[in-house]
Amino acid sequence: MSVESQRVAVIGAGTMGNGIAHVFAQSGHEVSLVDVNAAALERALSTIDRNLDRLVAKEKISAEDKAATLARLKTSTEMHGAVSDANLVVEAATERLDLKLKIFEQIDASAPADAILATNTSSISITRIAAATGRADKVIGMHFMNPVPIMKLVEVIRGYDTSDSTTSKVVELSRQLGKIPVEVNDYPGFVANRILMPMINEAICSLHEGVAGVAEIDEVMKLGMAHPMGPLHLADFIGLDVCLSILRVLHDGFGQPKYAPCPLLVNMVTAGKLGVKSGEGFYVHTKGSKDITVAPAFS
Ligand code: NAD
Repeated sequence: MSVESQRVAVIGAGTMGNGIAHVFAQSGHEVSLVDVNAAALERALSTIDRNLDRLVAKEKISAEDKAATLARLKTSTEMHGAVSDANLVVEAATERLDLKLKIFEQIDASAPADAILATNTSSISITRIAAATGRADKVIGMHFMNPVPIMKLVEVIRGYDTSDSTTSKVVELSRQLGKIPVEVNDYPGFVANRILMPMINEAICSLHEGVAGVAEIDEVMKLGMAHPMGPLHLADFIGLDVCLSILRVLHDGFGQPKYAPCPLLVNMVTAGKLGVKSGEGFYVHTKGSKDITVAPAFS
């Protein structure tokens, strides 16, 4: 597989899927972006359009580059057609094991036998996902960071049976996208979320116990630890439902109470306060604006 021009199917057009489709299309690959929800596809296209406009305005790409990128991008609500001629599939659907197992069974049945099947999962076992297919050697974790067009890291996760050849292709492809791949092994949360999520959970517990308010907790971590964004703001950005799913994977995978999700996080997700994607989490977020205010529940 030459990394120059792949046919890539991206499954899931939410927070991550639109960014993944964007970087592949901008790097010269033909992309089919698939979602079961047509409205998510429309939102994804308008986000990509807006993000490309920003790059044009900053003179990082030309208007022609933008048009060529969009011309390489198709959308569909039907997975079979999109993956049947793909040489790479990157799954970025909702972080739920049952859903991912079902999607990988379907992709395995539809994609060419030599296609690599990657997942952008934040925490779910690559080995477990690979076992739902008949090609465990070609299944790998390709964990992009949010926002995908900006963040450099791709955590490349080898499952138990992932081959050297699959790993080296994905590493090479990540570099061609302008990213920096880092190889890690398949344990709950991998490296990024094994370290990040307990910090976010501890910030939520600190809020829950009244140690400090939302803005104060974030300010301490920004000023004191030189983090560009406080942990509660970051949680809103990631999606509180995604944070909760990852903590549950860590808790189940290691069986240690230190990973138990804070009850406040569970309540917020149950109430539909998911952060940026729902408009409210620890902060209130207004579409199209970077300004945030602390949510009424915490002010
Ligand atoms: P999201 O909730 O924003 O989007 C998920 C999308 O998947 C939705 O649009 C949904 O309609 C779609 N979907 C659900 N079932 C589907 C199916 N059967 N076929 C096609 N599409 C389907 O979620 P997200 O934040 O983009 O997360 C996607 C994946 O990326 C998850 O595995 C998550 O853990 C991982 N991830 C998230 C972040 C983050 O910061 N949000 C960072 C790195 C990795």
